[in-house]
Amino acid sequence: MDYRGRIAPSPTGRLHLGHARTFWMAQKRAVSQGGCMVFRMEDLDLPRCSPEHVQGCLEDLKWLGLAWQEGPDKGGPYAPYLQSHRTALYKTALTRLAEEGHVYRCYCSRKDIERAVRAPHASDDDPIYPGTCRNLPTQSGTCPQYCWRFKVPAGETVRFEDERLGSCQYEAGRDFGDFVVWRADGIPSYQLAVTVDDHLMRITEVVRGEDLLVSTARQLLLYHALSWMPPSYYHCPLVTDDTGQRLAKRHRSLSLQAMRIAGATPKAIREKWRQAF
Ligand code: GLU
Repeated sequence: MDYRGRIAPSPTGRLHLGHARTFWMAQKRAVSQGGCMVFRMEDLDLPRCSPEHVQGCLEDLKWLGLAWQEGPDKGGPYAPYLQSHRTALYKTALTRLAEEGHVYRCYCSRKDIERAVRAPHASDDDPIYPGTCRNLPTQSGTCPQYCWRFKVPAGETVRFEDERLGSCQYEAGRDFGDFVVWRADGIPSYQLAVTVDDHLMRITEVVRGEDLLVSTARQLLLYHALSWMPPSYYHCPLVTDDTGQRLAKRHRSLSLQAMRIAGATPKAIREKWRQAF
């Protein structure tokens, strides 16, 4: 099968060096296998994504020397490449999951969950949903506000081979709980959208940061429920600052935009990474 990789930024702020290194790694792996690179804009959380950041992402990554063959600026056989234009596809997957009993309506507010969950948190720090609505006798409810959650098979181990880390495993119900696939504000969740898109866009390898390892386990359960073949995975180490803290959008001086303005060259940045890997 021909290699198809992807770059999937969320335009909620300017990209920093950490994102860029992951995308650069994604490109390196695609190029080394003579593959194709897809650019997908993960702009589902519209209130947090601005058109300015959408443009900024494209600009910053082009400046750094990344290239893609399919994307919002190029088109391609699996268009649209903006998640905000793909809601109908996510809805179809949700309907299937609901018909087959993999998801349920959850009426809990964030506060309800915080009150019920004092201790357990997933390995990536999401509170583990205590299952309050999982076995409600009727799913009709009168409350108009609800999200959809995926029923994880508690106690089951999700295993996968990471191309860098080797064998990884997470236990459903302990490392993560019933997760949201469709938010109460009507927005599909990251977990559902990314699974549907990676499948429909025929992505063969997902390269992303290690912070998403537990999400990979969640997504593998979605692949299984939808009877889809999952891609392979390569999780990159996270970039940290001088104090060992993971880079975040608040590290403004390490945004690609700020570095460009300060006179950094793409060549110098890429050279540093070449030595690090
Ligand atoms: N849009 C996600 C992010 O910027 C990446 C998700 C993924 O690679 O699956 O963190």
